Amino acid sequence: MAERMLWDRMRNRLVIRGELEAVTAFRVGQAAETSPVAPDLPVMQDERGRPYIPGSSLRGVLRSHVERLVRTLQPVENGRYAGRGACIPVHENQWCIPKEKMEKPSEKARMDKTGFELAAWVYDQSCLVCRLFGSPWLASRVRFTDLFPAGEAVLEERDAVAIDREKETVAHKYDFQVVAPGAGFALEILAENVQDVEIGLLLWALNELEEGFIRLGGFKGRGLGRVKLSRREVLFLDGTRAGDLLQYARKREMPPMDERRQQECIEELFNFLRG
Ligand SMILES: [Zn+2]
Repeated sequence: MAERMLWDRMRNRLVIRGELEAVTAFRVGQAAETSPVAPDLPVMQDERGRPYIPGSSLRGVLRSHVERLVRTLQPVENGRYAGRGACIPVHENQWCIPKEKMEKPSEKARMDKTGFELAAWVYDQSCLVCRLFGSPWLASRVRFTDLFPAGEAVLEERDAVAIDREKETVAHKYDFQVVAPGAGFALEILAENVQDVEIGLLLWALNELEEGFIRLGGFKGRGLGRVKLSRREVLFLDGTRAGDLLQYARKREMPPMDERRQQECIEELFNFLRG
């Protein structure tokens, strides 16, 4: 069995950088503005008025996308989570560690043991997706920073009408804001203490993002939200190699992870899911 990745020490660190480009317009919205000149549905903007993509938004779509991918290799049996790949986070009783299992007296006895033992137990019981992205019981290993424009990002306003479905008439008009196609956003993902299968999962998700299969934000039904990753850079620091760690401490440069090693991680993932 592969080594458990707990938080007692830094075993490795992974940094992925790239640029996320808007192929079509997209909108990651914020709550409606009260100003009369503002659009009814503005996009997320920082205090300088620059649009940005919260890291949590990208993380959310990547997580649900990999859950679907994982389930193609490890199907859910009779509508229940059965494997190690991806539990079903929207249904509490189908989490990899359901609430009652954490609360049951027999399991509580485990919790009375040291925190380290509990952490190990939670890790062992958790599905692969929860191990990487976190769960109510397990801290996430991966952090998505907010994505800010790498160059210019133009905002556009579009008109829409709301239809009254009963009367089949126009109920009212409204406008919504989008980020125009062509804008690029700087992407950075950081992960610590990740196993090869988890790296494989993340890289698989990024392949999908590179191919343009993942859509971001709202109004997808109107054709919005196509994004594409480019200029991907994968850096990896192996904390078990003293030489690499020293080099990093001296120069703060992480070595790149070569293509072959990336491919190995993806293969490791496939073996895990089929095994
Ligand atoms: Zn899970």
